[in-house]
Amino acid sequence: MLAYSLGLPHPLDATFLCALAFPAASGIINVYIQSTGDAAMKTLLIQNIASLVSCDDEDRVYENVDLYAENGVIRAIGQNLDKAADETIDARHMLCYPGLINTHHHLYQQFSRNLPQVQNMELFDWLKTLYEIWKNLDENVIRLSSLTGMGELMKHGCTTCFDHHYVFPAGAGDLIGTQFAAASELGIRMHCSRGSMDLSVKDGGLPPDSVVQTVDEIMKDSARLIETYHDASFGSMRHVALAPCSPFSVSAELLRQSAILARQYHVRLHTHLCETKDEENYMLEREGMRPLAFMQTLGWVGPDVWYAHGIHFNDEELKLLADTGTGVCHCPISNMKLASGIARVPEMLKLGVPVGLGVDGSASNDGSSLMEELRVAYLLHRLNSSREAPSGYDILKMATRGSARLLGRNDIGTLAPGKCCDLFLIDSRRLELVGACFDPKSVLATVGVRGAVDYTVVHGKITVKGGHLATIDEEKTALDAQRVCEGYLAR
Ligand code: ZN
Repeated sequence: MLAYSLGLPHPLDATFLCALAFPAASGIINVYIQSTGDAAMKTLLIQNIASLVSCDDEDRVYENVDLYAENGVIRAIGQNLDKAADETIDARHMLCYPGLINTHHHLYQQFSRNLPQVQNMELFDWLKTLYEIWKNLDENVIRLSSLTGMGELMKHGCTTCFDHHYVFPAGAGDLIGTQFAAASELGIRMHCSRGSMDLSVKDGGLPPDSVVQTVDEIMKDSARLIETYHDASFGSMRHVALAPCSPFSVSAELLRQSAILARQYHVRLHTHLCETKDEENYMLEREGMRPLAFMQTLGWVGPDVWYAHGIHFNDEELKLLADTGTGVCHCPISNMKLASGIARVPEMLKLGVPVGLGVDGSASNDGSSLMEELRVAYLLHRLNSSREAPSGYDILKMATRGSARLLGRNDIGTLAPGKCCDLFLIDSRRLELVGACFDPKSVLATVGVRGAVDYTVVHGKITVKGGHLATIDEEKTALDAQRVCEGYLAR
């Protein structure tokens, strides 16, 4: 088991680092790190990768290289690596990328997609209508919505998923434990959140009484979940964040207490912020402050905080985010569907605000493909900002190393020796990519890939093969999920 702490090199690496630097055909230098010699280790060799886009600090693209991993960690990227491995992938026509990282989702919404009654609504009415369905959540709905939502993410290159779960109906069971179990079945790296709401309709909030809890209940359960599941070590498969729902469904006290508890346990803070003009007006009326100013008074800025959406920030607020390292998860499809607005991503990137990508909940997307999100983000900002828009490669980096930063991780998000082996592969010979791969860095956002990827690898383990989930019975899961979804909606 890897036991070294996040961000620091493995102590053995210093001893064994041979740094066999040699120029590749493309003039790129490869670094080789020798084996740690663990007798029980699992190894993976990916051979002859046509193009490997590393998203590293030097923006390196390797051509015709092998990648070798041991126990989930990349040990070498180089040409003709002479290594025997437990599993070998022939990638001679494949493009290889760091696994995509989703930094905002509500997996439980998987079973409330494409509902005709909410199709023309904006956020507040949309939420009030859907809470009447969501109040019937239980462990079975959570298990199958998590399996199907994360399964779809993985089929489109995602290797780490953050989920913002904030609906805890009384007696619904261990919903977060169920999510972590589903992630283990799939083999995806999972960041769960202990979300929360304590302001129901009778207190001026949006949700019904049956899905809100007291601050005391929420704090006790938050501490329990962090102590049970949070693992901050290098290569961790499980993190917990604290994530009250939004300023209009929680009290100031809940936000304040959440920030204090998160910092005691060194876990991260997340919520929705500046998603709509309705939210801004609500906060001005209730608190006499704009949303970010209100959050700042409660300790909610800093490098351990990231907000979903962040559409309606003004110039000073963007500067505050940059100065404090407070992050933003950009969710373009959801923002378009709910007519919420366009996040000022070009300005954020210019100022140095940490920005990642997310699909948002399945009900406002209505899917779970970060691959689709890449292209929509690219096109949306081209339309809105023309020359100032991020490039296709900028958008890819947002969904990989940018998202990793929001989750507080530097062991994922790039491909290099010493990083986790989280990646995906796409066969460049597929029909829709013919003649389109001259710039592999940007092709995912500019041209886009509609079908499933060929391989997804998480921590050195093949989780998607030939476009299908390799860890669960995909067909049976889909049938079970459809049956449970119908029963849930019929309640
Ligand atoms: Zn959301």
